[in-house]
Amino acid sequence: MTANRNRRVPRHALRQFSRRTMIWGGLFSPAAANASTIVAGQDSSGWISYPEDPLRSRVIDLHKRFTDPIIIKDIQHLKHSDRTYFMRVESEGGAVGAVKCNQRMQDVSSLFQRAIRPALIGTDARDMEATFESVYRFQKPRGYKYSGLAYFTAQGHAELAIWDMLGHIAGARVADLIGGPRRSGVPVYLTRLTRRTTAQEEVDRLAERIEATGARAVKVKIGGRMSLNEDAFPGRTESLVPALRNAFGDDLTLYVDANGSYDAPTAVRVGHMLQDQGVDLFEEPCPWEDFEMTWQVTQSLDIKVGGGEQDSSLPKWRWMINNRGVDVLQPDLIYNGGILRALKVARMAAAAGMTVTPHYPRWGAEAAPLIHYASVIPNFHGFMEYRADPVRFDFDYTPVFDAVDGEVALPDGPGFGIEYDPKIFEKAEVLTG
Ligand SMILES: [Mg+2]
Repeated sequence: MTANRNRRVPRHALRQFSRRTMIWGGLFSPAAANASTIVAGQDSSGWISYPEDPLRSRVIDLHKRFTDPIIIKDIQHLKHSDRTYFMRVESEGGAVGAVKCNQRMQDVSSLFQRAIRPALIGTDARDMEATFESVYRFQKPRGYKYSGLAYFTAQGHAELAIWDMLGHIAGARVADLIGGPRRSGVPVYLTRLTRRTTAQEEVDRLAERIEATGARAVKVKIGGRMSLNEDAFPGRTESLVPALRNAFGDDLTLYVDANGSYDAPTAVRVGHMLQDQGVDLFEEPCPWEDFEMTWQVTQSLDIKVGGGEQDSSLPKWRWMINNRGVDVLQPDLIYNGGILRALKVARMAAAAGMTVTPHYPRWGAEAAPLIHYASVIPNFHGFMEYRADPVRFDFDYTPVFDAVDGEVALPDGPGFGIEYDPKIFEKAEVLTG
């Protein structure tokens, strides 16, 4: 298969974009202000070197915001129930921060207990970016030996809990600490997570939730998930996409997620059908590790190809950006190691004129970290991932919220803006292994 058109952005356009980014100020200005930044990390001759490399630059200087040290007294992985775990951090000064864990955290807890937790205790939270880098590169057991989604899941939970604590100390929203919100409400796409449904069942369920939330965008699963070209059941994808378009009309923005179902030729064939149906985003057409196949598909289709939810390597993000391996970057806030690293991806993407819509299929309180991130980045793709189906949590918290008029509001309390029932942490089991 050969690329049917050259999708690389002309250099003069990138220079123009880079100049424009200078007015963004704050968070995104250091890379943009570098006059030699043409494509993420390249100097004018095309070399990637440390002085030019956005991977090496700090994202946020927390010493400017917090004048006194914030020493981490402890950070704990807590079990609330068989299905609910939290990460909670406490400073020497008594400030706390917490975040609910995703379902993978208990599987990677040894990386947290052996590498992340001991390295954080006693350090200044203002230096967490350098601490995490040190844990990854230098400190035993050397994080890079375990690099990947599992390692950065452990780091990501710790980082989010620290952000929540910093927000409580500052009396500020995390969004204010990471550059300031550009939007008070973030448009969402309702994300469906099953392939067991027929086309009519998807239409019926989405109709209910579109009615309830006012959402203007949805994402459905197509293909069979890492299935070597098999559909979930014969004909599902070919019937589902037109059924959604017929039911909801042309105004609905439609994303689809193949979860690595196809090889490149099959993805291009399916992609032509998606293009005919006006689908806006074709997520993970090919197995996520296969950059070459995914690149071929991206080059061969007009429809935007998205990817990156499993990725956690900053140099690989840079490759995806500089080579247009995908059109839209989808870092997961936790799998990719937290907000700072997701901001680095957004900043590199912005320098190349590309957009970001992170992977984070959560609902309500659990979506809060993503709302803060999505409210801040200037190159947000347009709609934020949000679970179509509300979650019944087995704990209390405030505020309880859902999407309204197609948007979720940025919570206005300190940190991520979620107040958990204190009894959760009084009763939780502290995990040590
Ligand atoms: Mg996905």
